Order: sequence, then structure tokens, then C-alpha cells
Amino acid sequence: MTSIKEQFIQSLQDGRNVWLDGKIVDVSKNQNFTGTLSTISSLFDMFEDPDIRDSIGYISPKTHEYVHTAFLIPHSYEDLMKRRRAFEVWSQATDGVMSRLSDYARSRLTGWYASREEYKRFDQHFPGKIRTYYEEARDRHLFLSVVQRDPQINRSIQPVPEVKNLGLLRITKKTEDGVFVNGAKMVGTAAPYSNDLIIYPLGMLKEEQKPLAHMLIVAANSPGLHLVCRESFASEPSKKADSPLSSQYDEMDALLIFDNVFVPWERVLLHDNPEAIWQIKSDSVSNSLAYHQAIVRLGTKLEFVAALAYEIADAIGANTYLHVQEKIGELIMQVKTINGLLIASEFQGKVDQYGTFTPDFTYIETARNLGAKYYPRALEILQLIGAGGFIQLPSSVHDFQGPLSPLLKEYFKGAAIEAEKRTKLFKLAWDLIGSPLGSRHELYERFYAGDPIRNTANQYNNFDKTRLKQMVEKYIN
Ligand SMILES: Cc1cc2nc3c(=O)[nH]c(=O)nc-3n(C[C@H](O)[C@H](O)[C@H](O)COP(=O)(O)OP(=O)(O)OC[C@H]3O[C@@H](n4cnc5c(N)ncnc54)[C@H](O)[C@@H]3O)c2cc1C
Repeated sequence: MTSIKEQFIQSLQDGRNVWLDGKIVDVSKNQNFTGTLSTISSLFDMFEDPDIRDSIGYISPKTHEYVHTAFLIPHSYEDLMKRRRAFEVWSQATDGVMSRLSDYARSRLTGWYASREEYKRFDQHFPGKIRTYYEEARDRHLFLSVVQRDPQINRSIQPVPEVKNLGLLRITKKTEDGVFVNGAKMVGTAAPYSNDLIIYPLGMLKEEQKPLAHMLIVAANSPGLHLVCRESFASEPSKKADSPLSSQYDEMDALLIFDNVFVPWERVLLHDNPEAIWQIKSDSVSNSLAYHQAIVRLGTKLEFVAALAYEIADAIGANTYLHVQEKIGELIMQVKTINGLLIASEFQGKVDQYGTFTPDFTYIETARNLGAKYYPRALEILQLIGAGGFIQLPSSVHDFQGPLSPLLKEYFKGAAIEAEKRTKLFKLAWDLIGSPLGSRHELYERFYAGDPIRNTANQYNNFDKTRLKQMVEKYIN
């Protein structure tokens, strides 16, 4: 029987147009993708391990086989804990560095499926369409990505359909069988590894923007769809010792260009309806479940930075200084704050009218919005502790096997660590703060959830201010 991993790798050999360095590449074979593919495969492999599969999966009611817990609709606190555990296992496998392992998009889909009856008022076919797709994605272990943003061409112009030169994704033709779409979307993280892409607009659209208001599920191998990758940040597998993160965890980002792409009606979940799209984009169950995964991963990643800072300070004896202790204390506070907000969101979870137990979104969005500030600060702290040590490294850990080895061992050692190990430690941290992959991660944590300024301002806009008013009014009235 074909394993889930093998099925996944085969599914990528489907004629998709993944462009890298001006050429179409086979993601399953090209060396810029093989390191990451091996990481994703090892996650799928967990389903074959009887000791692990219960922590990441549950039995599908349809196939009676294990499927990923991101698809589990939580009906209780215990179900939510099961979801959390699955996210922890996968995020810990990459120390939170890989962020779009599909469990975010799968959680979004699960949320929409759980609330499907809500959207019948916009389209009576919605519940049936999402049920069919949800079951297919769950039972076939489909790797999914969500891509929402219009290409960054001219942000000063309001996106209206008549403006042709902004590359806005729109339906250009409707037939009995489906629709044809043209335009582009960014940033498609992990798009080259995805089976399907869930596409809808990021912002609120007005009535006159109706032709842009669609929610589509697009197969990554659709004819006319071009996945244009950024430069690869993946270092060769042979460089694993020097770039342990870049060699395994470059999830890749792509601009999606839709050149007359056909989408069958069963995968056009909603169309021509700004209000419906805004409602489903803001769906509280989908948001809570997806960002619940995102903050579990964020907590793991911040803990990883704290671990690196601790080890580096220890390695060079900087941990004896008060200000270094204070800085590592700040990293620990970051981890505890995110973890505390995660626990609060779960503890304050509630069952909605459809029986879904969702974590409290206000704590989740607080953690998410803090993350956009915490992560760059965490990297700054790491830089302040390791300082010049990040640059003063031999070109490769393999240099220690060369003729200069005795001298290198003498001059690259640390206070409490031998030279080769110290070099590996600093190279690991450099991969997170100084490599192209590391810089991309800083940008990712700032922007992955949308404009961080708008997100934080929304906390103010959506907050019930009655109590705040009352607290002050007793003094001034
Ligand atoms: C590494 C990475 C991975 C990502 N992965 C995904 C993904 O998988 N799926 C996905 O959907 N998205 C993804 N995103 C995209 C993310 O949704 C956007 O980056 C985010 O919404 C910000 O939009 P933008 O990048 O187009 O910036 P812009 O909106 O172009 O912003 C550029 C600047 O202009 C300002 N600006 C723009 N418009 C306005 C305005 N109306 N008012 C005031 N200021 C304005 C912004 O504040 C900012 O300073 C990813 C982003 C990054 C960096």
C-alpha cells in the first residue's frame, strides 16, 4: 500500500507550473526543494508510527483511517486540547520555523465547514460544496495554502475591477461548468508544495468591487496557473551542518499568476458577493481555529530563540552579566506570555450555535499581534548577546577536519564548549538571524497575518469600551 508520504510526493508530479530561476522545475526532484520536501515527508511519516499517530491524527468517520487533527471539529475543551497537541508535535518537529505546514489552511477550512449553514444565506450550494471539499481534503491528506493579497503594484489606487493594470484576480468568463479567472495573488507561502490553493480577497470589498469578490479552491496544477517562486533560500543538503535551517525548512513563497485558469463550479465556493466574502473571511470559528495553530507555532519558535540565546550566552560566558540575564529573561517572558494567552484562549473557549468549541479569539489575536513585535525583538536580543561571534566563524564546520584544525580548535572554542560545537551553535543561530531564510522569517512574523498596524488597531476598534468609559466617567461627570 502506498504510504501517505509517497502519495504526497507523487501528487506533486502533476504537471504544475512551478517557476524557479526562469525555468519550470519538478518540485519532487529539484534540489532547491528536496530538503524541505524531506521535512514535510517526515511529518506525513508520523501517520505510519503507532506511537505518534494518535498525537497528530484521529480516525476519519468516512474512511476509518487516520487523518490530521487540524480537520477535527472541536466540540469540547478536550477536542481543542487534541488539536493543540497535534500542532505542538508538528511545530516542534521544525522548532516553529516552518509555519505553513498546511495545518493553518486546514484549520481555516475546518472552521468554514463547521459554520457552513451560516453561509447558506449567501449561496444555498455553499454547505454542500464545502462539505464535499472538506471531506476530500481531510481523507486525501491534501496539502493546502491560503493566498489572499493582491499583487503589490500600486497601493494608492483603490482596487476596482475596471482598473486593469493592478493584476487583480477576477472572473473573466462564466460557463455552464465553471469560471475562468485572470490576475494574480501573493504571497503564496508553500504554494509549490500545495495540492490546492484557497483564494479569496484580504480586505473588505464594496459593491462596485463585486467582480473581485470570490472564494475559490484552485488546484495547483491547473493549466494557466503559474507559481513564480522567489529566489531559493535552501542551501544544499551537503551544507546541512553549516545551515541546518536553510537546508531543511525553506517553505518557499510564490506569486500566483492566473492566466485564464478554469475553476469548476463545485470549487467556486462563493462568487460576486463582497458581503459574503467579508463575512466568511471574518468567520470567528475559522479565524480562531487557524490562529490557534499559528500561536502554538509562534510559542515554539520564540522558545527556540530563547534556547539559542541561553546556549550562546552560556557558551561564551556572557550569561554572567546582569544585562544579558535580563535580556534572556525578556525572551522567557515572551514565551510565557504567548503560552499564557494560549491557555487563556482555550480555557475561555465557548460552544457556538453549531456545537463547535472555539478558543476565545481576543486572547488569540492578542498573542498573534504581540508576535509581530516579539519576534523581531527576540532576534535583536539574540544579536545583542552573540555580537561579533556570529560573523567570526570558519567558512564551514568541515574546516575542523582540515590542516588548520589544531589552531581552529584553540581559537574558536568558547568558555564552556569546544570549538566545533560552538561553531555549529553560532551557525545555527546565524541561520535564524542573518541568512536569507532568517531575514525572510523576520518579515514573515511581521506580516503573515496582514498589516500589523491594522491588526492592532482592530483590537481597539472591536473592543467593547463600555467598561473603560465607566471607569473614567465617574470622575468627570
Ligand atoms: C514572508 C511572507 C509570507 C506570507 N505568506 C502569505 C500567505 O501564505 N498567504 C497570504 O495570503 N499572505 C501571505 N503574506 C502576505 C501578507 O498577507 C501581506 O504581506 C500583508 O497583508 C501586508 O500586505 P503587503 O505585503 O501587500 O503590504 P502593502 O499592503 O503593500 O504595504 C506596504 C506599505 O504600505 C502601507 N499601506 C498599504 N496600504 C495602505 C493603506 N491602505 N493605508 C495605510 N497604509 C497602507 C503599509 O502599512 C506598508 O507600510 C505573506 C507575507 C510575507 C512577508
